[in-house]
Amino acid sequence: MTVARILSTKGRDVVTVAPHRILSEILRILNDKRIGAVVVGGADGEVLGIFSERDLVRALGRHGTEVLDEAVSRHMTSRVVTATEDMTVNQAMERMTEGRFRHIPVVEHGRLVGLVSIGDVVKYRIAEIEQERQDMLDYIGTA
Ligand code: AMP
Repeated sequence: MTVARILSTKGRDVVTVAPHRILSEILRILNDKRIGAVVVGGADGEVLGIFSERDLVRALGRHGTEVLDEAVSRHMTSRVVTATEDMTVNQAMERMTEGRFRHIPVVEHGRLVGLVSIGDVVKYRIAEIEQERQDMLDYIGTA
């Protein structure tokens, strides 16, 4: 199963913010949209960084609440690991496991086209395993 298949079901909308937005705004977005990360994007749809709830906890833990007035660009991760649509879900999952993060933006020709979270991956892996189980039961039943 490919990353494209996940995106075709879950949709391609990604919550993206400009680099000058401040952390209190990001906090509100994460809460309102019930998500764990935002992509920090440039004017041409390019990925400049990613900022997750983990980064918020780190910034608050290290510097206190004053950071809430600082730009997200100061606290985001700039070296973003991305996926492409033709990758298998397992390949995307391997990247997330290796990097120990739960989000992977999907990029085609330098532009953001979607985002896959660990929750999406787990959901599709469970569906796949269930399908395999059903196929096996059908096979045994008809053998
Ligand atoms: P997460 O598990 O997604 O909440 O992220 C944990 C840490 O990894 C945070 O510092 C994120 O900014 C960073 N991070 C999340 N996704 C990625 C990614 N695709 N590439 C690089 N770093 C990431």
